[in-house]
Amino acid sequence: MPLETKHRILLLYASQNGQAKAIAEEIAEAADGKGFIADLYCVSQMEEFNLEKERAPVVIIASTTGVGEVPDTARKFAQKLKSDLPANFYSHIKYAVLALGDSNYCCFANGGKIIDKCLQQLGAQHFYATGYADDGVGLELVVEPWIEGLWDALKELCQKQKEEINSDAEKILDTNDVSTTNKSFELSDIELRLEANVPPTAKDSFNSSEGVEQNPIVAGLQECCLVPTWVKSEKPLSETALNIPSLPVVYLNVEFQKSTVQVCEQECFLLAPDITLFQVPVTKAISLTREDAVKTALFLELDISKTSMTYEPGDAFSIICPNSKSEVEELIQRLGLANKKNHVVEINIIPNNKKKGAHLPEYIPKRSTLQFILTWCLEIRSVPKKACLRALAEYTSDSSEKRRLQELSSKQGTADYTRYMRDHNICLLDILRALPSCRPPLSLLLEHLPKLQVRSYSAASSPKYHPGKLHFVFNIVEFPSCPEKPIKRRGVCTGWLAEQVTSMLQNYENETIISDCLSNGFELPQISIFSRHNPFFHLPAVMAAPIIMVGPGTGIAPFIGFLQHRQKQKEENPDFASGETWLFYGCRHHDRDYLFRNELKGFQDNGTLTQLKVCFSRDLPKDTTAGKPKYVQHLLHLFAEDVAKMLLDENGYFYVCGDGKNMAKDVASSLTEIVSEKLGVDTLVAMKVLADLREEKRYLQDVWT
Ligand code: FAD
Ligand code: NAP
Repeated sequence: MPLETKHRILLLYASQNGQAKAIAEEIAEAADGKGFIADLYCVSQMEEFNLEKERAPVVIIASTTGVGEVPDTARKFAQKLKSDLPANFYSHIKYAVLALGDSNYCCFANGGKIIDKCLQQLGAQHFYATGYADDGVGLELVVEPWIEGLWDALKELCQKQKEEINSDAEKILDTNDVSTTNKSFELSDIELRLEANVPPTAKDSFNSSEGVEQNPIVAGLQECCLVPTWVKSEKPLSETALNIPSLPVVYLNVEFQKSTVQVCEQECFLLAPDITLFQVPVTKAISLTREDAVKTALFLELDISKTSMTYEPGDAFSIICPNSKSEVEELIQRLGLANKKNHVVEINIIPNNKKKGAHLPEYIPKRSTLQFILTWCLEIRSVPKKACLRALAEYTSDSSEKRRLQELSSKQGTADYTRYMRDHNICLLDILRALPSCRPPLSLLLEHLPKLQVRSYSAASSPKYHPGKLHFVFNIVEFPSCPEKPIKRRGVCTGWLAEQVTSMLQNYENETIISDCLSNGFELPQISIFSRHNPFFHLPAVMAAPIIMVGPGTGIAPFIGFLQHRQKQKEENPDFASGETWLFYGCRHHDRDYLFRNELKGFQDNGTLTQLKVCFSRDLPKDTTAGKPKYVQHLLHLFAEDVAKMLLDENGYFYVCGDGKNMAKDVASSLTEIVSEKLGVDTLVAMKVLADLREEKRYLQDVWT
C-alpha cells in the first residue's frame, strides 16, 4: 500500500451545547482527506494534551455561554491560561480559533475571545485569523468558509515549518551546531506516516426501517404539514451543480436486545460528579395571566424541604424534562420500530471506523430502551445540522426528496438552510413527515441528534421568606408547528410542565397574594431538578447600597426573591436601613399579564420597594402615544436623573433579567445614553463606565431567550 505523509494537528473544542464539538468533529473527519491527522479533545481533557510541549498547530473551536463566559467544560482550561504564567510561556504555539456566539446577546463570541486573548498574552501566535460565527444569523455562514480557509493556512504553516527545519538541518550539517537538533525532532513529531486511507463507505442500513407501517398518528400529523414550502426545490438552486459535503462517517452500530429492563431516568444526568439531583413535588401551580393574555405565565411552587438543596435569591436551578410523549411515539412509528420500543438498545462503536475520536454518546446510559433514549436523552426537536441532512439523503429513495436534502446540506443551499430549516426550527420529525421516502436507521439519530438539554429557571422566592420552598415562573412557549398551518407546538419543558400541573392549576385572582396554603389531596407531580448557582446575581452585601432592578415579563422572577429577602431582613432587624430599591417592570396589558401585581403592591406598602415603575406595551392609546413609555428602557429615560444618581453617585447596583435577545441590549443602550448625559461624555466613554460597572459586579445581567 502506498505511504502518505500526514501532518498532525491538535484540535480542541470548548462546547456548551455540543455545537463546538460537532464542528470540531467535522474538522477532524475532513482532516484526513486534506493531508492532516487531528488529535481531537475537549479542552476539559487536560490530561490528554500538553500545550507546554505542543509543537503541532493548535486549532480551537470555542462556544460562549451565559453573559459572554467560556463554556462550563472550558473553565479549568481558561483558569490555567489566566494563571500566573510567564509572558512567553506559549510562544512556541501556532494556533487558530473559531469563536462561536450569538450576536443577539451581549458579549458576542466572548468565550473564544477570552481564550484567544489569553493565548496572545502568553506569546502564542495566530497562523490563521480568528473566525467569529454567529448563531443569530446562522453559524455556517462563517464556519464553512473558515474551515475551507483553514486547510490552506495549515498547509502553508506546515510548509514553512518544514522549510525552517530543513534550513536548520542544513546548518547542522554545515556547522555541526547541536543546539538545533530539537527542531529536527519536531519534524518527526508533526509528520506521521500512515497507510493511505480507504475512503469511507456508507453503511447500508435500510434494513432497520424496512416495512414502516402507516399509522393513524403519523397520517394525522402528516396531514397538518402536507407539502411544506421548504420541501420544494426552486430555481436557480434546483438547477445548480451542488458541492455536497462528504458523507459523515457511520460509526455506531445498534442492536436490540430481547430484554426490556429500564434504567432510572436520572442516571443519564448523574454524569457530572458535582451535580446532586433532587426529585421534588410541585405543590402549587397558578396561572398568573388572564386567558386572553398573549402568553400564559405559570407560577409553580416546589417543596424542597425534604432535600438538602439550598439556594439564594438570584440563583437559578435546572429541570430535567422529557420530550413529548406523542412526538416520541410518532418518531418510533416512523422509524418502523414500534415493536422494539421497550427493548434495550445496545450501542457499539463500529470497529475500525474512520470517525475521528469516535465514542459512544455518554448521555445514553447502558441498558436504555428505545423509548427511554428518545424520551430522555436526545433533543429530538433540534434543527438537524447540514451533516445530518447529508446523512439522511443517503437513506432517501425518492430522487426529488433526496435531491432536496442534498441541496439543503450543500454549500449552495446555505441560504435555504437558514431560511427554512433554522428560521422555522424544522426538526427531524418535520423532515420525516414531509419526506416519506426518507427512512433513516436509529444509528443515524444517535450519531446526529444532540443531547437533550436541561432547562433552567430563576428562583422567584427567598428561602428566608418561604422556608423549604422554591418558586419559579415561566411562560408556556408556543409556536406554529409548521409555517403552512399554524397548529401550536409547545416548548419541550414548558409544555411538559404545563401538562403536569393541569389538574392542580389555580387562577391568580385579583385579591390573591400567593400564600403558603397547600394542595388538596391529589397526587402531586414530581420533577427532577438540580441547583444552578449564580455567583454574582445577588443582593449587594452592603445593604444600604441602592438597587435598580429591571425585569419585564418573567424577568421579574429573581426580583420577587430579592424583595422577599429584603422584607425578611427588615422584619428581623427593624433598625436596618436598606438603600433605595427601584423596580422597572413592563408587560403587555395591565389587566392580562401584570405578573405578581398584588405582591408588588404589598412590597410597596410595607416600604420594601421604594419605587415601582411599570409600563404596558400594548395598552397605549392608539391616537397619541407620544410621551407614554412603552418599554422599560423608556421608563429608565423618564427617571434618568434618579437612575444616574443612584448608580454613579451612590455606588448603586443595576440588575437586568429577562429576554436577552432585544430587551437587555436596548436597556444597555439606554443606560449608556443616561450615563453619557449625566457625565457629559461621549458614548464610548459612557460604554467604558458601564464596562467598569460590569467588572465591579454592579451592573449585573441574568438574561436568556
Ligand atoms: P424549547 O422547546 O427549548 O424552545 C426554545 C425556544 O425555541 C423557544 O423560545 C421557541 O420560541 C423557540 N422554538 C423552538 N421551536 C420553534 C419553532 N418550531 N418555531 C418557532 N420557535 C421555536 N425562562 C422562563 O420563562 N423563566 C425563567 O425564570 C427563566 N430563567 C432562566 C434562567 C437561566 C439561567 C436560563 C439559562 C434560562 C432561563 N429561562 C427562563 C429560559 C428557560 O430555560 C427555557 O429556555 C424556556 O422556558 C423555554 O424552554 P422550552 O423547553 O419550553 O422551549
Ligand atoms: P417578554 O416577551 O420579554 O415581554 C415582556 C414585555 O417586554 C412585553 O411588554 C414586551 O412588549 C416587552 N418588550 C418587547 N421587546 C422589548 C424590548 N426590546 N425592550 C424592552 N421590552 C420589550 O416577556 P416574557 O415572555 O416573560 O419573556 C422573557 C424572556 O426572558 C423569555 O425568553 C424567558 O425565557 C427569559 N427569561 C430569562 C431569565 C433568565 O435568564 N434568568 C429569567 C426569566 C425569563 P411587546 O411584546 O408588546 O413588544
